[in-house]
Amino acid sequence: MTTSVLAAPPAPATATPGLKSLWLDILKNIEPKLQRSQFITWFKDTMALGLEEGTLVIGLPLPMYLNWHMEHYRTMTVESARAVDERVRHIIYKVDVGLKDNPDRTFDLLECFPEQRRRKLPGKQEVKLAEGLISKILTPRYMLENFVVGSNNRLAHAACSAVAMQPGGKYNPLFLYGGVGLGKTHLLQATGNAILKQSPKATVVYTTTEDFTNQVIEAMLHQKMDQLRNRYRRVDVLIIDDVQFLANKERTQEEFFHTFNALYEERKQIIISADRPPKELQLEDRLISRFERGMIADVSSPDYETRLAILTEKAQEYEIFMDKNVLQFIAEHVTKNVRELEGTLMQAVAQFELEQRMPTVKSIADIMRKLNKDPHEEEEVIGFAMDAKRQPTFQEVLEAVSRYYSVSVQDMIGASRVREILIPRQIVMYLGKKHLRLSYVRLGELFSNRDHTTVMNACKKIDTNLQNDALLLREMRAIEQELKMA
Ligand code: ADP
Ligand code: MG
Repeated sequence: MTTSVLAAPPAPATATPGLKSLWLDILKNIEPKLQRSQFITWFKDTMALGLEEGTLVIGLPLPMYLNWHMEHYRTMTVESARAVDERVRHIIYKVDVGLKDNPDRTFDLLECFPEQRRRKLPGKQEVKLAEGLISKILTPRYMLENFVVGSNNRLAHAACSAVAMQPGGKYNPLFLYGGVGLGKTHLLQATGNAILKQSPKATVVYTTTEDFTNQVIEAMLHQKMDQLRNRYRRVDVLIIDDVQFLANKERTQEEFFHTFNALYEERKQIIISADRPPKELQLEDRLISRFERGMIADVSSPDYETRLAILTEKAQEYEIFMDKNVLQFIAEHVTKNVRELEGTLMQAVAQFELEQRMPTVKSIADIMRKLNKDPHEEEEVIGFAMDAKRQPTFQEVLEAVSRYYSVSVQDMIGASRVREILIPRQIVMYLGKKHLRLSYVRLGELFSNRDHTTVMNACKKIDTNLQNDALLLREMRAIEQELKMA
């Protein structure tokens, strides 16, 4: 049997096919990083137009895409392009109106990226309600019942519970504010969940300000503003998260203002969150005064007991057993933000699953060191609890430090001057002085007959460094905990 081979046609002189497939690869890299609606809206009718000396020229179909891409997608696009083709070092944008609605030159994103391919990210899924309304799916895990109440969030929780009992009642709108990771989204979604539980037929829309903005922009682009307005006016409960992001978005603010009024007039419940109180938002005055009409409640950082209660609750939720000392240690050290608190716990769980060993205070301290969170936070918070509950022996201190830094006891008390030994040795001296109340002279003797001034300088140095070296402070704290000296 013979095979006839047809000669391939000569490659076209232009680089277009190569660029097209390069762009498709880059789009494939970008797509999972964005919400689908954003991806389709902003990457439709785009194309790579050239690649020269490391600079990739990206064509955009309309001038209005330019700012948006520069502001929102530039970094991500460069990263994706570099990941796909290492020749790319920079990108520049070029508006090319010939790309608009030109299927010969661009990809049909809906076809190239069919919906079912979408990677489902938790908390990001959307649900289509009646009449084209879109809401994020409420995370069932966020409930009013599993929200730990402390003095930092009591009012907010009570207000949410009241709204859940009687939407559109006294507390309308309900405005929650507070810093990141303190439970606003949890409370907002929990309230939505509770309302739906009672009235499964209610139209509850939960949206982020970012999504709402995208919907407004999309409607503007396709001249479908009226449709969008009508849709939102059919909502029973509108929950909108992080309205601080409405700043500088005049058109979206305007739409939101009208939607707000329409719903408010009909006594529909509106629940809003932001990172600061209404007065401090950089929004139109008329919006701010609307926000101030109802109930305003803040969430702030939880105190130690609440942090511990939250950790205990989360540990139960995730069905993980963790030693009380470990939970206490986390609660003591991660203080500002519940998300971080939860994150540290999850790291501990991951470590347990990987290594099949129970987290200890030391392993948690290691995790925190790796996460190396905001050092200022630790500095303020860790502080020293001076009172020794039990006096460990000098030998125990030596061994604990030796274990912690993986250096030998012999090296520490010996003559070595290498850096890795120096700090652990100084730490033992410091602990010996502080907790065991040994004199500088005695400590000098214990360290191969060193001069007492050496010990004194070491202790001073550690003392000074502890003032501004958060990492050292945390390590010291971990060692003290391990020795039950803290
Ligand atoms: P925010 O929206 O204020 O940035 P989130 O609501 O996303 O914060 O909270 C971050 C995480 O912390 C969530 O997993 C949430 O469940 C949890 N969380 C915050 N506060 C509490 C609390 N009081 N009880 C239980 N979990 C909480
Ligand atoms: Mg949030």
